[in-house]
Amino acid sequence: MTRLSKHPAGAISSGVPTLVDDLIAAVQEQNPHEPEFLQAVREVVSSLVVVLQKHPEYRKAKILERMVEPERVIQFRVPWLDDAGEVCVHRGCRVEFSSAIGPYKGGLRFHPSVNLSILKFLGFEQVFKNSLTTLPIGGGKGGANFDPKGKSDMEVMRFCQSFMSELYRHIGHNTDVPAGDIGVGAREIGYLFGQYKRLANEFTGSITGKALQWGGSHIRPEATGYGVAYFAAAMLETRGESFQGKTCVVSGAGNVAQHAVEKLIELGAKVVTLSDTSGFVHDPAGIDTEKLAWVKNLKNKRRGQMEEYVDAFPKASFTPADPTLHYNPLWAIAADCVFPCATQNEINAKDCEHLTANGVTLICEGANMPTTPDGVDILLEHRILFGPGKAANAGGVAVSALEMAQNSMRITWSREEVDRRLHEIMRSIHDTCADAAETYGTPGNYVNGANIAGFCKVADAMLDQGLV
Ligand code: NDP
Repeated sequence: MTRLSKHPAGAISSGVPTLVDDLIAAVQEQNPHEPEFLQAVREVVSSLVVVLQKHPEYRKAKILERMVEPERVIQFRVPWLDDAGEVCVHRGCRVEFSSAIGPYKGGLRFHPSVNLSILKFLGFEQVFKNSLTTLPIGGGKGGANFDPKGKSDMEVMRFCQSFMSELYRHIGHNTDVPAGDIGVGAREIGYLFGQYKRLANEFTGSITGKALQWGGSHIRPEATGYGVAYFAAAMLETRGESFQGKTCVVSGAGNVAQHAVEKLIELGAKVVTLSDTSGFVHDPAGIDTEKLAWVKNLKNKRRGQMEEYVDAFPKASFTPADPTLHYNPLWAIAADCVFPCATQNEINAKDCEHLTANGVTLICEGANMPTTPDGVDILLEHRILFGPGKAANAGGVAVSALEMAQNSMRITWSREEVDRRLHEIMRSIHDTCADAAETYGTPGNYVNGANIAGFCKVADAMLDQGLV
């Protein structure tokens, strides 16, 4: 018997905080080398004390104890040949976390930092996020410690084909439906789908993020970034404000950042920064649609670094990334609204002190878990509007689910139709989080709201489906 099941059913009604502490300790003991996963579990579980107090049936069925354990983890070898004819070997993985409300659904990440802890944190978050979308999708995540950066198209293709040669037997449109994430964009999705189709001998919606001409959905590339802006606009509305005339700081320069900036500009905001692993650009005049088109070409076609921006737009400045600093000067730039759209733990407590000192109004997470827990505490203490990633960036997976629906029906909705649905979904996620936060006694706390609302739907499905 593992420590996760040590509580006799019913013996814990008055000791929920202890139960939660014990659960966190047990997860820590069983996953000692998985700091990101522990961080994600701790955040969610802390929000759920009030829910467990109110719902003895969740405690009795040990819903939370079951939810912190993935249903299945698949790890595999990915051998491939580089252009010089050298054999290379990487590690691939798919974490199928929860199928309580639908097929496993979540992206694939190709990045040298990928390990089980990161994929489990992302898969765990995905369960709650997907639950919030209102659509029938479970949670999963996968990837490999492979870096597409600096590889030729043929090397990327050979890697993707080898990766899919193993993964294809575990996925399917009714089982598990991967999509993109960091390092997996349109090119990689094309190669992955091509190999899937060849091996499975069927053309189904088993991967989302496909190109429009062969099964993709309008707005899927834009969906995460647009959704972040829609979610943030809904948060601003609660204070009678809009983006008109607001200055925004955005990190990242990939899929999420590019489309968040696109929508923010459309909504009347002035975006003054973008970043990547080389550092960040500060363009006080604002990154307009023309400059954004230049960035898209740089990152998506030429695959260059943001340091080149200042050659094209000399009035902007570039600050190189400095890993020796204990804070990121990007977050010390004065702004009304802030959008971390690069990676996990990119804003720490020191950064949050800078943000609050500068009087920031809103922080909305485009990336997954970009703010450290002590940073989040500071933002909430200052009553800053804070949109957690699992709610604010759910637009991408929501439109992926719309892509699945279109594939099943073999039809294509118009751009306007998908954008309308995305907008509605983001509004619904916002309202669901706000309502749950209020119902459970923490009005305005979207972190608690997202965790509670996401949890309850999955928990109820698990109760209905018995001990599986
Ligand atoms: P991309 O690979 O398209 O872009 C990531 C960007 O972040 C790049 O500019 C990259 O720089 C930068 N970056 C990555 N790691 C670091 C780092 N350690 N320090 C500084 N910059 C870094 O990924 P996405 O835009 O798709 O994803 C960004 C975030 O959004 C991730 O957290 C992802 O999980 C999350 N997300 C993505 C969704 C999607 O639909 N794509 C959906 C929901 C969440 P460089 O170009 O130099 O590598």
